[in-house]
Amino acid sequence: MAGRWRRQITNTIGLRLAAWYAAVFAVSSIGVGLLAYQLIDASLVRRDHDLLRVKLAEYAARYESGGIHALQDAVSAEQASGGPDSVLVRLVGANADVLLVSAPQAWSTFDLGSLDDSPGPGREAWQALSSPTDTATLEVASRRLFDETLIEVGRTTIGRDRFLTEIRDLFGVLIVAVAAAGLAGGMAVTSQALRPLRSLRDTVRTITETGRFDSRVEAGPDGDLVDELGRLFNAMLGRIETLVGGMRGALDNVAHDLRTPIARLRARAESALTPGTPAEETQAALADCVEEADRVISLLSTLLDISEAETGTMKLTLEAVPVAAIVAETIDLYEDTAEDGGIGLTSEVSEDLQVRADRQRLRQVLANLVDNALKYTSAGGRVAIGAGRVGSDIRMTVEDTGSGISPADLPRIWDRLYRADSSRGEPGLGLGLSLVKAIVTAHGGRVDVTSQVGKGSTFAVTLPEAAAVTAK
Ligand code: ADP
Repeated sequence: MAGRWRRQITNTIGLRLAAWYAAVFAVSSIGVGLLAYQLIDASLVRRDHDLLRVKLAEYAARYESGGIHALQDAVSAEQASGGPDSVLVRLVGANADVLLVSAPQAWSTFDLGSLDDSPGPGREAWQALSSPTDTATLEVASRRLFDETLIEVGRTTIGRDRFLTEIRDLFGVLIVAVAAAGLAGGMAVTSQALRPLRSLRDTVRTITETGRFDSRVEAGPDGDLVDELGRLFNAMLGRIETLVGGMRGALDNVAHDLRTPIARLRARAESALTPGTPAEETQAALADCVEEADRVISLLSTLLDISEAETGTMKLTLEAVPVAAIVAETIDLYEDTAEDGGIGLTSEVSEDLQVRADRQRLRQVLANLVDNALKYTSAGGRVAIGAGRVGSDIRMTVEDTGSGISPADLPRIWDRLYRADSSRGEPGLGLGLSLVKAIVTAHGGRVDVTSQVGKGSTFAVTLPEAAAVTAK
């Protein structure tokens, strides 16, 4: 439990977010508190001033109607009632002689003599007198009367100040409570919000510790950013798992495919080394060894070519390549094979078509497709090479009337080392189409196939037209 809390506290991003949350809470409540305090202060001042104005008018009226005695009676009656709104009443004659002073005993610390008795006629004048002993202030309203007498009515701010101090203390406590609640709430909210991130961290830790990619992040169904991150991370893990699985599978296949020729090579070499083997047999065994070694070299270099093309490290010398010339070269290369197999090999390509490609690699692509077409077409069949313009691209096709590819095999024929079961009788490494696809993709083109079992297949390579590319 303690460990969990320690982890939560050292989980700085959570703490930082919670602190922000608490700070925003505290700052807003300070703002609201300050505003409320100002309003309360202003309303209390207004109330005190209104009271003084009322008292001033009342006592002035008393004086004007009944002279100093009437004022004296009113003040005494007020004092006797002992009401909470006690006021100072001071009457100063025209010659600055103080005629009457009445104030609660507690206010004796104020130096009333320092009051300014000079205000002229008109509305009331205001002045404030500070206490020499404490922070209280005596607020005094005064008015010059008809006979030049000055009447002053005053009140201390002690009650008001005390009330405001209580309000300030209350606000202080409230703000601390709000900040604490904000911090606690912030920690709870951020802890909840960071849950997917903690799950992400735990998943990454499990993967790095175990090397297994089957762990997944707990991603909620919400469409928020963190959940989406979790889902994307899971999708990425799924892709990596498939890729790693594929690579392991490919490696297994390569190991398997290499073992057979190397075992054969070893057996043939061993037989050649057996003492007393006739010279011609040794010669034949060595020739077999060379053949097997070539097979291994071809497998490895094709695999290297594919991965170079797929990773973008294959060096391509791009130039305008006339399609007709490449097709003619391919026909030259496979003419004899086609004739031996009793297959008609034809081409129909217009002379003006040019693709932007690496000549060597394009030849390899076409050769692989024609090689396959001839391999999977029986005697009496036909293989036709064609090319045409499609928009700003050139589409080259190799069409055969061969065995065709079953719908189940169709999506997998591009995988490395994949060979349809029906093709096991033919020689091959299962790498030709992977190489074709990797090279065409590296050129920025695409390759696709349509096929019908028993009727034949058409492979189509689409590459940018040379002229169109240069013009861009
Ligand atoms: P392989 O060395 O087996 O020919 P490829 O990668 O060139 O390897 O082809 C993969 C598989 O696709 C082949 O094993 C075969 O089953 C199928 N295939 C490719 N081309 C054709 C074709 N023209 N007709 C029928 N099947 C084909």
